[in-house]
Amino acid sequence: PTYRVAVGVRRTPLFRPHLDMASVRYPNVLITGTPGTGKSATAMAVVAQLPQMTHVEIGALVRDKQLHEGWDDDLQCHILDEDRICDELEEQMENGGVLVDFHGADLFPERWFDLVVVLRTDNSVLYPRLENRGYTEKKLSENMEAEIMQVILDETRGAYREEIVVELRSNDLEGLESNVARIIAWVNDWRKNQAAQAVEPSV
Ligand code: ADP
Repeated sequence: PTYRVAVGVRRTPLFRPHLDMASVRYPNVLITGTPGTGKSATAMAVVAQLPQMTHVEIGALVRDKQLHEGWDDDLQCHILDEDRICDELEEQMENGGVLVDFHGADLFPERWFDLVVVLRTDNSVLYPRLENRGYTEKKLSENMEAEIMQVILDETRGAYREEIVVELRSNDLEGLESNVARIIAWVNDWRKNQAAQAVEPSV
């Protein structure tokens, strides 16, 4: 019989290029969920601690740049011009580091996002939050029903790969803080992985 002699393989490259973390791109994150679940509060807290990222609230963008086709009186919201919203954001998304905040998930190209967070809030907590917003009875009940039926969660799961979708509870300040910490930790890990892949050629 022939015997094979194990030959040691040098796994560490002799030359390790210097890793400049500052040049590593930031991921794009979508924060979605029913209105009132805390998307803006979460996104604002993330960018406060990670100022390299930009918070883009789609509702505000739609109003500022008139990216709509008028007002729907029945649903009490703008009729979105989805193509123009996506065109407006495309270049920024290519550069990375965008934290998109919107109560819809499937209007964006799937390739844009590295992580998608769906915020969820218990009914007894969400109701008073929406009441505080002065929503009409109809809008309030529609949003409550959407949260109960997990409409946004299902829409998100239908639009993105399972591995990048995370569902987080956003009921109280403790939850908010831990969600913010999780998102920041995830962003940092993602960048470290990107950096490691850039210097370690896959074998
Ligand atoms: P969204 O952007 O999803 O519509 P907001 O971030 O505007 O929701 O939050 C709605 C209201 O609820 C705000 O007054 C916000 O401060 C509060 N809020 C959001 N998330 C939490 C949370 N986890 N704990 C306590 N209050 C919250």
